[in-house]
Amino acid sequence: MSSPKNQPNIVIIGAGIGGVACASALAKFGIKAHIYEQTLQFSRVGAGIQMGPNATQVLHGLGLKDHLAQTAFQPKTNLNRVWNTGEVSNDYPLSEHVIAKYGSPFYALHRADLHEALTKLVPSEQIHLGKKLTALHQDDKGVELQFADGSKVHADAVIGADGVHSLTREILLGPEAPRFTGRIAYRTTYPSSRLKGVEIGDSRTKWWGPDRHIVIYYVTKKRDEIYFVTSQPEDATWTTKESWSSKGDLKTLQDAYAGFHPDVQAVIAACPEVHKWALFERDPLSTWVQGRVMLLGDACHPMTPYMAQGAAMALEDSVVLARCLDAHRGDDLNATFKLYEALRKPRTSEIQKASGANQWMQNKTNPDWVYGYNAWTVPLEMTP
Ligand SMILES: Cc1cc2nc3c(=O)[nH]c(=O)nc-3n(C[C@H](O)[C@H](O)[C@H](O)COP(=O)(O)OP(=O)(O)OC[C@H]3O[C@@H](n4cnc5c(N)ncnc54)[C@H](O)[C@@H]3O)c2cc1C
Repeated sequence: MSSPKNQPNIVIIGAGIGGVACASALAKFGIKAHIYEQTLQFSRVGAGIQMGPNATQVLHGLGLKDHLAQTAFQPKTNLNRVWNTGEVSNDYPLSEHVIAKYGSPFYALHRADLHEALTKLVPSEQIHLGKKLTALHQDDKGVELQFADGSKVHADAVIGADGVHSLTREILLGPEAPRFTGRIAYRTTYPSSRLKGVEIGDSRTKWWGPDRHIVIYYVTKKRDEIYFVTSQPEDATWTTKESWSSKGDLKTLQDAYAGFHPDVQAVIAACPEVHKWALFERDPLSTWVQGRVMLLGDACHPMTPYMAQGAAMALEDSVVLARCLDAHRGDDLNATFKLYEALRKPRTSEIQKASGANQWMQNKTNPDWVYGYNAWTVPLEMTP
């Protein structure tokens, strides 16, 4: 593959939220990227996703403003309640308040709906499915990528957006050793009609227990689909992976929340099936860039889901990277990637750390430093 001058031939590994957002953000600056994704077909895994104002800024800029307004649920507040009594510890206003304060809304939606909307922004001929990266080699002329089907591709630069189990990261930095937190996240989406009249309210609600919690919200504007996600201790020797497809046991889940408020138990009782995700922790990486290869999203800053900011960080990464590549056309790619890393790592490391603490919004919280970030306008120069 050849590329015109100042127009690097860019390959993205992984068509998750970060990969497709990145291709779409690059296109906004006239830079074309091809995505190589191992999956043959995307499936609708049962999961919701919260998009704070910093994330919706990105999504609006990519062209999804009307789509989100027509389909996504806009919670009234970020409501935090004590697990058994239901006492309110914090009720942070969202809807109109965050629009006025940060210039963009807070949405909750189905993860697959978000992924589908982002994927539609990228021309289908730029997304190559069934392409599992197995190796990459770089020299001063470019990068050669090999896939499990035996095919090879050559690129000027590679963006590893291949998620929490990133092979790109492993090739750059060697195998990692994540720490199992001893906790599992159970999650599911199901039709709200199954609740048979139980009201979950207009908020995105987190019920805080002494050693476990559950977050509940609608994922559609019509409120016809509900989502919950938990975090609870489970056998520390347990070896299930961070996986969107591992099934969970309903009885284990019901027992774990037996003492919770009746509203919580009603939501769990109405759920037909659950999936589970093992919660691991990782420290920030030493670097995200090596030569012509760099990392984005969970590949470089995976985090516990407690602040609902993992995908938001991948979205921010995408726009900042695209702006860096646009502003430094024709410059040394490694230097541009290093600038992107320097601009993004302090923020993602801070959020990784704060997310791990699992205190976000439990009590009065000022979210300005998280919600007030606009990836489209943040200065691209390093502050001394
Ligand atoms: C329970 C839970 C709840 C969450 N809730 C929220 C939330 O409310 N808000 C929020 O902002 N974030 C949330 N997150 C975090 C969010 O899901 C992730 O941060 C986000 O999905 C990361 O996107 P990504 O594109 O980096 O990785 P992924 O979405 O994991 O995509 C990686 C892609 O790379 C592909 N791939 C992997 N290896 C290869 C290979 N070798 N070759 C080719 N392709 C490959 C994969 O198939 C996949 O499609 C949550 C996470 C969890 C676990």
